[in-house]
Amino acid sequence: MNVNFSPGPSQLYFTVEDHTRQAFKLGVPSMSHRSSAFEGIYAQTQENLRALLSIPSSHHIFFASSATEIWERLIQNLVEEKSAHFVNGAFSEKFYKAAVQLNKNAQIIKTSDGDGFNTPEEVDAEVIGVTHNETSTGVSLPKSFIYGLKEKNPKSLLCVDAVSSLPYVDFDYPKVDSVYFSVQKGFGMPPGLGVWIVNDACIAKAEKKLKNGKSIGTHHALPNYLKNGLKYQTPETPNSVGIYVLGKVTEDMLRRGITIIRKETEYKAAILYNELHNHPYLSPFVKNPEYQSPTVIIADSGTRTSALSDFLSQNGIEAGEGYGLHKGHQLRFANFPAHSKEQFELLVDYLKSFN
Ligand SMILES: *Cc1c(COP(=O)(O)O)cnc(C)c1O
Repeated sequence: MNVNFSPGPSQLYFTVEDHTRQAFKLGVPSMSHRSSAFEGIYAQTQENLRALLSIPSSHHIFFASSATEIWERLIQNLVEEKSAHFVNGAFSEKFYKAAVQLNKNAQIIKTSDGDGFNTPEEVDAEVIGVTHNETSTGVSLPKSFIYGLKEKNPKSLLCVDAVSSLPYVDFDYPKVDSVYFSVQKGFGMPPGLGVWIVNDACIAKAEKKLKNGKSIGTHHALPNYLKNGLKYQTPETPNSVGIYVLGKVTEDMLRRGITIIRKETEYKAAILYNELHNHPYLSPFVKNPEYQSPTVIIADSGTRTSALSDFLSQNGIEAGEGYGLHKGHQLRFANFPAHSKEQFELLVDYLKSFN
């Protein structure tokens, strides 16, 4: 099978198939989610995530079905009236639209595709939504910009979409209120599981909203998550196989070492960006090196897009299509832990030989 360089669902981490088979052997698919066996799985997955990403005990870890679900939960739990959204592509815009659909007074701070934001600005909002890595445009915002948003707006809850940058990005969690991701991108897993990291300020806000007589949703309301989470349980019957496999994949990544994973990510990004800079027909879509994402690398491929995509495909490499309006003149290459150094070197060699 071809190596999948599409950002998501992306190439499976190489141990996922074995872990899934093992989950069936252990009876995870029909295990009661109120059993101590399940609680053990939940606790282990949570512990491994904490160790891998250095998540402090000030932040809770909850499971949802997707990042898309978490957008809705963020608004339901944390916003009575106002949210503000830094929009620089399709995914950040989807979160903004969710807030509008939920009848919030949502402010949009927009920049063009392929760009980032100059300086953190002051906003009047209960929640600030920002996308650390815009998967649609290959823009990664500097962490200093994200922390700056909190410094400028200490009363707002800063919620960071890190779907396509984790586990690469090492956040200083005390500087953000919430971080979330789904597992079919950087964790190399099948889709259907979202991970929602929140601090006590988020829980307190949801409780305050409830006390004010406002709805905070139903099963995935934060106080309900917390009550169940303290017992290593979930409010609903969860994606137990996904939670089990995530625990195993994070264990594998811990064994390999997160420092090595991060260094390799940077090496792979450097050789691909270098090739795009030097290539006669291709160039990086994101021009400003400060914004060039290490984990989702986008090539402007113009009229040669389909020829290049076919050429790579014949050689075992499946490039991701351009997103939305960029389809047909761009190709996207995910750079996740599931993509090996050797595969990236091969990709660069094929790009060199393409003419
Ligand atoms: C893929 C993606 C999402 C949506 O993830 P789902 O699992 O489809 O809900 C959200 N944000 C970003 C940045 C993404 O790349």
